[in-house]
Amino acid sequence: MKAVCWHGANKVQVDTVPDPKILNPRDAIIKITSTAICGSDLHLYNGYIPTMQSGDILGHEFMGEVVEVGTSVKNVKVGDRVVVPFTIACGNCFFCQKDLWSLCDNSNPNGWLAEKVMGHSPSGLFGYSHIFGGYAGGQAEYARVPFADTGLLKIPDGMTDEQVLFLTDIFPTGYMAAENCHIKPGDIVAIWGCGPVGQFAIKSAFMLGAERVIAIDRIPERLQMAKDMCKAEVLNYEELDVGEALKEMTGGRGPDAVIDAVGLEAHGTDFMALHDQVLQAVKIEPDRPTALRQVIVSCAKGGHVSIAGAYGGFVDKLPMGAAMNKALTFKMGQTHVHKYLKPLLERIQNGDIDPTFVITHTLPLDQAPHGYDIFKHKKDNCIKIVLKP
Ligand code: NAD
Ligand code: ZN
Repeated sequence: MKAVCWHGANKVQVDTVPDPKILNPRDAIIKITSTAICGSDLHLYNGYIPTMQSGDILGHEFMGEVVEVGTSVKNVKVGDRVVVPFTIACGNCFFCQKDLWSLCDNSNPNGWLAEKVMGHSPSGLFGYSHIFGGYAGGQAEYARVPFADTGLLKIPDGMTDEQVLFLTDIFPTGYMAAENCHIKPGDIVAIWGCGPVGQFAIKSAFMLGAERVIAIDRIPERLQMAKDMCKAEVLNYEELDVGEALKEMTGGRGPDAVIDAVGLEAHGTDFMALHDQVLQAVKIEPDRPTALRQVIVSCAKGGHVSIAGAYGGFVDKLPMGAAMNKALTFKMGQTHVHKYLKPLLERIQNGDIDPTFVITHTLPLDQAPHGYDIFKHKKDNCIKIVLKP
């Protein structure tokens, strides 16, 4: 089959690789009809995530048709159209039972390695390096899905791929980010990052009762989408002092909750710029939690900080003094996608949201290398790419 493979930083190509096989009675094989490129894939593309190997198949946002099932799979059958959560979870362990699906104890075969670095192992993830299990991803013609009974969501007839594809990741991720803000009536929520995750976080914050949402980015068409499609007030951080602007817009108090929907990729300068410059001068790539620092400093006293942006390893120079003395509450994590599949499918069916608004490009799988290039560099007004194997 054809698959999008990682071959080092900034190098992906479409290779011919062996078809996946059933390895465990709980597996299913999916023939993929639609798959997307995520901001998280850019961390791999940029070479930020260790334990990738040349030839690894990328992709964790995918859906398609079940073409084969293992002997103990009962909830899905050949021919079903399904959406696949990006987190892999057994459904039976202590954490799955507590609805903390991205912390599953049984789905990461390289958990021992993760434990050495993180103390405990998170769940396995599709197409996201060997420390997260080394699973082949879904930017391919076929994929093997473990724990098929637990993970796969059957799609009702009449719904298009584009309507449901983002249940795999970015819709639940934006939604959980907003839920982690503990929004109360009248609340103002500020969101850093108007990428796909940020866009869904804005929509979700309104769904959960926010009175106002202020969205921050520097890419004009992303700010435009946040304003036109998601009804946010927008700030371009290259044009003004975000901290001052937020104070002014909130009667001096600051937003009641703040979301980091940026993660490792943060651009821009803030009060740590000098520190970064020094590191660059000696050719050490600095960690750049630029957005996260601003998020913490801007948040109102007693407010909630929700981190959806992905971080790994060590992140330096966070203003913990501000966090402590303003009594902030922090929530973060890989999304517990399984928990949100059915409720968010209902939201789509009810017409509360049409997730297709975020798609700017649909490309054949063969053009994935071009897709990664335009998504990374924000060329051609690119916001979200769907690939068609
Ligand atoms: P993306 O790269 O398309 O979007 C990030 C946006 O942040 C860009 O528009 C960029 O211009 C903007 N940005 C950069 N620096 C900024 C700054 N200092 N202030 C404000 N905005 C800034 O990615 P995406 O697909 O929207 O994903 C966003 C983040 O969410 C990534 O880190 C991704 O890994 C993470 N993610 C996490 C989960 C999870 O389970 N928690 C799931 C999916 C994605
Ligand atoms: Zn993703």
